[in-house]
Amino acid sequence: MNLLILGGTTEASAIARALAHDTRFNATISLAGRTRHPAPQPLPCRVGGFGGAEGLARYLTEHRIGAVIDATHPFATRMTRNAEDAARLSGTRLLVVWRPPWRRQPSDIWIDVPDMAAAAEALGPAPRRVLLTIGQKDLAAFAAAPWHHYVLRSVDPPAPDALPHRAEVIAARGPFAETAERDLLVTRRIEVLVTKNSGGGATEGKLAAARVLGLPVVMVSRPPPPDAETVATADEALAWIERLYHAQPRRGA
Ligand code: NAP
Repeated sequence: MNLLILGGTTEASAIARALAHDTRFNATISLAGRTRHPAPQPLPCRVGGFGGAEGLARYLTEHRIGAVIDATHPFATRMTRNAEDAARLSGTRLLVVWRPPWRRQPSDIWIDVPDMAAAAEALGPAPRRVLLTIGQKDLAAFAAAPWHHYVLRSVDPPAPDALPHRAEVIAARGPFAETAERDLLVTRRIEVLVTKNSGGGATEGKLAAARVLGLPVVMVSRPPPPDAETVATADEALAWIERLYHAQPRRGA
């Protein structure tokens, strides 16, 4: 069975590792091509956009894909919408890995906001030292609040002209342990964190560190869930693939 895994997450890599040596499947992983040195993949890998939902639908038909597993990040909303539309257009089975969001704990000081503009506004009018762990796409909102000092952590350093006026960059790839996160917050004298509610264990350490240090976290809320069948983990996705495989009509049956 031919499978397409839409990747860029720890779940996608875990699914890819599990399928790599399973001869029943002929799986390909797809990456957007955002990071300069993506982690090596155990499956054949294609890189770059498909050209919208129609382009993806064409790819699914031409490559006779039996199922597409959308294991992109929960904030990669355009890709997930395209996957929904392409699955409908091409009649391909679709599963979305929808990682549960982080939940506030009693001693957390979270400021929930709907988007990046609201996150920048929530930092307030007085200058603060801010840890931004939001990737590179949404820096413009913070460039518009140049009185803060930003410490930006992302896999690759952003283009210098995309950075807010006062910004230092830490290029690093997760996972990040709680103790290292606590050191980072203390040594960089961080007063407030800004993050998307990505969920998952790989980048949760900063929330535990902020809790211990009594620091506020500006939390950008999740987009609405996809209009598709979902599972929460890579293991559940693999179980879904297994069920689908056994439900396939066999040649000669
Ligand atoms: P997005 O805004 O939802 O997608 C924008 C466009 O990028 C899509 O329309 C598609 O282009 C292309 N694309 C996205 N994911 C792709 C994939 N896996 N394979 C091929 N093309 C892909 O996505 P994004 O938020 O920029 O995220 C890009 C990638 O980074 C995703 O793979 C995601 O898993 C990963 N990522 C995102 C975040 C985040 O916070 N957004 C965090 C960690 C990792 P076409 O329309 O041309 O097909």
